[in-house]
Amino acid sequence: MSTKLPQVPPEIEALVPYKPGKPIEELERELGIKGAIKLASNENPLGPSPKAVAAMAAALTNLHRYPDGAGFTLRTALAQKFGVAFEQTCIGNGSDEIIEFLARAYVRPGQEALAAAPSFLMYSKLVQVAGGRLFEVPLKDYRIDLEAMVGAITPATRLVFINSPDNPAGTAVSKDELAWFLDRVPEGVLVVLDEAYIDFATDPEVAQGVDFLDHPTPVVVMRTFSKSAGLAGLRIGYALGPREVIAAFDRVRQPFNTSSLAQVGALAALEDAEFWARTQALVARGLKEFYACFADLGLFYVPSQTNFVLVKIGPEARAVADRLLRRGVIVREMTSYGLPDFLRVSVGLDQENARFCAELSDILQGGL
Ligand SMILES: *Cc1c(COP(=O)(O)O)cnc(C)c1O
Repeated sequence: MSTKLPQVPPEIEALVPYKPGKPIEELERELGIKGAIKLASNENPLGPSPKAVAAMAAALTNLHRYPDGAGFTLRTALAQKFGVAFEQTCIGNGSDEIIEFLARAYVRPGQEALAAAPSFLMYSKLVQVAGGRLFEVPLKDYRIDLEAMVGAITPATRLVFINSPDNPAGTAVSKDELAWFLDRVPEGVLVVLDEAYIDFATDPEVAQGVDFLDHPTPVVVMRTFSKSAGLAGLRIGYALGPREVIAAFDRVRQPFNTSSLAQVGALAALEDAEFWARTQALVARGLKEFYACFADLGLFYVPSQTNFVLVKIGPEARAVADRLLRRGVIVREMTSYGLPDFLRVSVGLDQENARFCAELSDILQGGL
């Protein structure tokens, strides 16, 4: 049988499947335990926005209809919220899909994209699927090195991904840094600001991509409902950018790329200020607890503008992550990001954060 299959091209064969954080149910099944906690995928531990849940429940009876392929209501609300034209907005099946639109619309074999390293793993995958190459510029002091990124742009560069705040470092680009960078990007390059975590940023100096949409250098801002709105399972994200870019996305996308429930849920989440206030307060408390815990244990960590923290454990990081797993605590080990000495821990509920800190400190003091 298999000998009759067409060959998978070598550049596809070379891709490594994305390894997501282990689902809670899978760990519980494996260990035969209950009550495992997951602090590994930067999800919102409060659950989904209640307004989104109510709106989706009310929309269930309309599921026999195809979704609005143009996403009219949600995109109108986004345009209004950010003060841009409707034609400057688009929605995707998660912002992952928008990365895919960018690669499909702008990258062909022989062409390049740039991103920091380590950064979000989907950039390199989706650029490679489109036949292009992703060049990576190392972080400097855990921050995106925009000076080095300018230097790495070549005539083959089409896209530059700036993930701010960055996953997994948790640091963000400042307004001044972004302005400096955009002034130096040559023509023919599209700058993509991946702002999956921007809602969490507390430093007022952090650049907000929407303030740069009128810069002469073309900018696309990507955001998502997965993290701050607690809708990771729904799969909905959006982008704001030049009309021409959005028009190109419309050419390469599937006609019904986001479901009707996703559109309705996202619209309601946009207006759920109460849920967002609770989320913000929880993340502030959680980061404070993590920082205190790491300081107590003498561990280096990177102060974060997100809902997660990168912490340096040392050569034992992977073993520590395994021990945490056996105790029912899922965190992200960072080997696939090229940071084998680190763990990335997402803020959970107060009691989950406390449990993680207690287990970590026990393990570092010799516990199995
Ligand atoms: C989570 C995340 C996304 C996108 O998530 P979606 O669920 O696809 O919207 C994009 N970029 C980064 C850096 C992320 O961490």
